[in-house]
Amino acid sequence: MAQAGKITKNARTGTNTQKNFCSCGGEITMKTIMVDNKIKNIAECGKCKRTERRPSDFK
Ligand SMILES: [Zn+2]
Repeated sequence: MAQAGKITKNARTGTNTQKNFCSCGGEITMKTIMVDNKIKNIAECGKCKRTERRPSDFK
């Protein structure tokens, strides 16, 4: 007699986390900055420190 205490819930992992990469191979992270008292989100490459408005602009 064996009891399995496994609960299979949300088997799909990582579908919500999208990673973007710069042309140099560095990982792109989102940053929040203040410009003229407005909050802006920018994408920055962790390797070459290049910044763009959107992660898709790196491609
Ligand atoms: Zn880069």
